Order: sequence, then C-alpha cells, then structure tokens
Amino acid sequence: MNLHEYQGKELLSKYGVKIQRGKVATTPEEAVELAKKLTEETGTGWHVIKAQVHAGGRGKGGGVKLAKNLDQVKEIANEIIGMQLVTPQTSAEGKKVHQVLVAEDVYYPGDNEPEEYYMSVLLNRATGRNMIMYSTEGGMDIEEVAETMPNKIFTEEIDPAVGLQGFQARRIAFNLGLSGQAFKEMTKFVFSLYNAYVGADASMFEINPVLKTSDDQIMAVDCKVSLDDNSLFRHKDLAELRDKREEDATEVEAGEAGLNFVKLDGNVGCMVNGAGLAMATMDMIKQAGGSPANFLDVGGTADAERVEKAFRIILKDDNVDAILVNIFGGIVRCDRVAQGIIDAYKNMGDAIKVPIIVRLQGTNAVEAKEMIDNSGLKVHSAITLEEAANKVEEVLS
Ligand code: GDP
Ligand code: MN
Repeated sequence: MNLHEYQGKELLSKYGVKIQRGKVATTPEEAVELAKKLTEETGTGWHVIKAQVHAGGRGKGGGVKLAKNLDQVKEIANEIIGMQLVTPQTSAEGKKVHQVLVAEDVYYPGDNEPEEYYMSVLLNRATGRNMIMYSTEGGMDIEEVAETMPNKIFTEEIDPAVGLQGFQARRIAFNLGLSGQAFKEMTKFVFSLYNAYVGADASMFEINPVLKTSDDQIMAVDCKVSLDDNSLFRHKDLAELRDKREEDATEVEAGEAGLNFVKLDGNVGCMVNGAGLAMATMDMIKQAGGSPANFLDVGGTADAERVEKAFRIILKDDNVDAILVNIFGGIVRCDRVAQGIIDAYKNMGDAIKVPIIVRLQGTNAVEAKEMIDNSGLKVHSAITLEEAANKVEEVLS
C-alpha cells in the first residue's frame, strides 16, 4: 500500500523528521484559507501547491507550483484540483487530482543557496538487509543519476543484529559534503528516517529532495512511501490512510472478494488456483504466443461463487478475448471445481461472450473433463497445460 506525500510526511514528522508546514485542501477556497493561516504562523507569503496523487514526477507534469500571493494560491489550486495529471510515472491518461498540499515555501532566498539531496530506505533483497541509498544529486530522477553518474550514488547497509550505527549516519553526512550544524542535522535526519521505515514496517521510503535550507536545517520536501501490506494488521492507523481512488478499481473489488488479482495488458484472461501455478500459466501463455490479461489466484476453494466472481472480474477488461482456467485438483477435487465452473457459467447467462478453455489436472481430472465436455456449454477442455495454451491460441487465431 502506498501513501500520499502529505501522509508520509506526517508519519515522518512523528519520528522527528523535519518537514515544512502544510495541510491538504480539496477546494481552491480551502487552499486560500490554509495559506492565510500559514502566513500568520510563519510570516512567509510564498506557498507551494502540490498535487496529491500516487505518482512521482509531479513537478514535470505541472502538479507542483509556487504561489507568491493569495491570488496565485487560488489560481493554481483551481488549476491543479480536478486536473488529469500526466507525469513520467503515470499512464498516458494520467491521474485525477482530488486534493493539493498547501505548504510554506522553504526554498527562501538566503546567503547560501539551498541544496537538494536524494535519500531512500529500502530492502536489498539480494543481501536481505535494509539499505539507505543516497546521493548529492537530489531533485532529479534517481534513475537518471544512476545512468549518467553512478559514482554519485552511495549506499549504506544496515546489519539487522545491531541496527543503524552512529558512524553510518556520520558517513552519510560526510559523503553529502556537510559540516557544522548541517552535519549534525543530517545525522539526526538519517536516524529519524530509518526509525520511521522500521517502525511503520515500510518496504520503501524515498525522499527526493532532502533539502538543506539556507539556515542549515535538513528537511524532507517530498516523500514517497510503500508499506508492506502483510504488516498492516498491526498498523490499523496506517491501514486507514489507504486511498482506494488511487488504485485500480478492479483490483480493489477483487481484493474485497478475497481474490488475488493483478491487471496486465494482454488479451488472455487467466483463472488459476495458487500463485505459483498462476505464474507458470502466464509463462505458458507467453510461450504459446499469447499475452496474459491478468494474474488471478482464486485460492483453495474454487467453488461456483468464487469462480463466478472471478469470471466477472476478468470480463470487466475489454481486452480479454479468451479465458484460460487452469486448476490443479489437490485438496479440492477437479470434479467439484468443474461443477463450480459449469454452475457459474450457467448462472451468468450470456454474460460470457469469449471462449473459455479449461484445464483440470489432479484428483478426478478425467471425470471433470467429461463433465465439462457433456455440459453443452461452449467450454473447451484440456488435460495438459501445453494443450490448453495451444487451444487458447487456436481459438484466438
Ligand atoms: P515530484 O516532482 O513529484 O518529485 O515532487 P517534489 O515534491 O519533489 O517537487 C518537485 C520540485 O519542486 C522539487 O524538486 C523542488 O525543486 C520543487 N519544490 C518543492 N517544494 C518546494 C518549495 O517549497 N519551494 C520551492 N521553491 N520549490 C519547491
Ligand atoms: Mn520528488
């Protein structure tokens, strides 16, 4: 699960990370009210207005703008709220903006120019350790830095037995070229950020840019967070921050039905019991020259109700030209699953307009195939996966 920038920053703030003052608004009028209050608190009349969507690169798409007075706050908020924001990280149609963060401008002109750094905390899956990745080249895409100046990216791995050590935080501040007050502030920043990552059971925190203000404060100006879904049961407060508007509607519906579904961009719908089998099925479809439209694991109980729900979810995708059902009958017998498919199909009347290929393997597979073949429905059956995948290609060509 991902958080919005403002939610991530509030979370960071609880762990002692410095953030600029700000709040979210859903209307231009509300944005102006917030900006007025901020000016009273901070004395600064400049504000930054930032689209809150689950995608980076908002600045490039016109979703982050500076307002120098209240009229501009209203104008910019009016422009951003409700827009379809297209950034290098969204699809071509972009994401609808429902709210903006109105925050004090912390890039105030001073004796020294503000500096921008990059910092993220994530799991290095190769070593199984948490890692802090950082760079002096903040504000720009880290992918671009990695490509053009890989020597400017540093990493610090954390030993799980002892946690983040003081010398590591100091090495980070040193490599970022800091000294004096800013050096101390950076070591504090690193510890607070790391504690937030561990405390929230996050799988990633990315702060780009980390800002050094002209008065040597270190703060998080941007914040991207991914939380580990498997840990949400022990973070009820964080689970509540979920914004379903940011997620694929079909994936949300599938999740609520207890189905493990991921939408893809091919044309062969897949319904499978078991995640490993689902991946193998997708591989077979590819090998036979097709392209999977989704990943769908119906789980252990492939009864009529679940199968029907799964069919309905797969069929919401207009790109689907055929559905491959691949069931391995281990604990659930194939004949029961076959009955589920037949019942679901009959129940759905003429909602199913694409060919269905069913492959059943395992306990009572032969009986199950007979049931399908004798059902009178337009369902093709197969025993081997290869046979099934080839049949899909046959009905499509
Ligand atoms: P992103 O484009 O989605 O990564 O959004 P960011 O939060 O990183 O903002 C994009 C850019 O806007 C930053 O790299 C900064 O250069 C700039 N920016 C962000 N906040 C402020 C601010 O308070 N004042 C000024 N002047 N610029 C800002
Ligand atoms: Mn950013």
